[in-house]
Amino acid sequence: MVSNSPEIAYIARIPATGPIMTASAPITQDVHTIPRKLPEGGKPNLIGLTRDQMHAALIAAGTPEKQAKMRVNQVWQWLYHWGCRDFSVMTNLAKDYRALLQANFTLEIPEVVSKQVSADGTRKYLVRIQGGHEVETVYIPEEDRGTLCISSQVGCTLTCSFCHTGTQKLVRNLTAAEIVGQVMLARDDLGEWPAPGTGSGDNGPRMLSNVVLMGMGEPLYNFDNVRDAMKIVMDGEGIALSRRRITLSTSGVVPEIAKTAEEIGCLLAISFHATTDEVRDKLVPINKRWNIETLLNTLRDYPRLSNSERITFEYVMLKDVNDSDADARRLVRLIAGIPAKINLIPFNEWPGAPYQRSDWSRIEKFADIIYKAGYASPIRTPRGEDIMAACGQLKSATERARKSRAQIEAEAGVSSGS
Ligand code: SAH
Ligand code: SF4
Repeated sequence: MVSNSPEIAYIARIPATGPIMTASAPITQDVHTIPRKLPEGGKPNLIGLTRDQMHAALIAAGTPEKQAKMRVNQVWQWLYHWGCRDFSVMTNLAKDYRALLQANFTLEIPEVVSKQVSADGTRKYLVRIQGGHEVETVYIPEEDRGTLCISSQVGCTLTCSFCHTGTQKLVRNLTAAEIVGQVMLARDDLGEWPAPGTGSGDNGPRMLSNVVLMGMGEPLYNFDNVRDAMKIVMDGEGIALSRRRITLSTSGVVPEIAKTAEEIGCLLAISFHATTDEVRDKLVPINKRWNIETLLNTLRDYPRLSNSERITFEYVMLKDVNDSDADARRLVRLIAGIPAKINLIPFNEWPGAPYQRSDWSRIEKFADIIYKAGYASPIRTPRGEDIMAACGQLKSATERARKSRAQIEAEAGVSSGS
């Protein structure tokens, strides 16, 4: 097993309604972007702010400029090292300064609506964000590490024809607080924050040791918030995950790829899925804007490329569509020269999906060709299968039970007219 290759990285979503994308889907769909509501009382949230933003916010609230840097350090440590979300227990701050913070700010992360735990330990959280919308976050424990798969958007504006998220009509970018908040709520649930006063809190291997941006949404279409959230996750005075333990998956938003290396510095995974433009145009329609050659040229330049930082090529196995021996051979030819690993994902079927999962023997044959060409080619074994299907359904089932789409839209102040 190659390090940093997530076992399971996509979340199947089964929306209650929505058109099934055909093979000729447009690059982006007709979506409703959901406006974001201000938090109750209009107080800004300190969570999700970069150090510079927090510095400015504390000064704006009346912190003397000379003290601001120290205050940021203190608050930062409470929030991200100790996992504290209550100003009143920040005991190294004077009482009236705690009162000032309390009067001016909130400390909010998304709320866990429900949690399912699989027999194999996989945990799936249904998470409610501002405005009542929901995303999913999945924690996958392994022997020597634990990976958290987080979402960056509600829905997705892109229309990959095998992906159910792309059929969801309501889309909004998650805020940095909602992105880093998924890491925080998982650490809450795992009980992984050190107790204040217990030293550094660095006690052996982490339960939550890796983060993959492979949940709902296209992270590179929410670049700034994803970057800010990951900077917080990587900050050494807090959660302190190394950049090499974070993997961002993109369908291929070429202009943002170099920025990912420069401004985040994390590992990269590419939803490749096809070896000819003809097929990739249908599976990953963003290919019509940035085709295979353009994408691969950009990847060749990914500034941080090295053998220890290989790019993961994700490849969904679709029966009779992209799974032939010729495809496998083309794949290794195409990526020649790029330090890479290939992650084969057996297609996760959903009702009405226009594809089927490749047969197991076909997937193994495909993997073998890749392996013999010198690449690690792990087949992503489904984890938490017993809750996986239920969970994809859970989201829509919960939404159906509690709220209709019309209700959600009314709350968000949009109307679909359909
Ligand atoms: N939008 C980003 C990240 C989210 S999807 C991207 O496309 O890369 C994470 C991975 O799961 C992607 O490789 C995606 O193509 C894959 N995926 C989506 N739906 C799937 C399905 N039904 N079966 C298997 N893989 C799927
Ligand atoms: Fe799904 Fe990713 Fe394509 Fe969006 S970009 S439709 S999340 S595979």
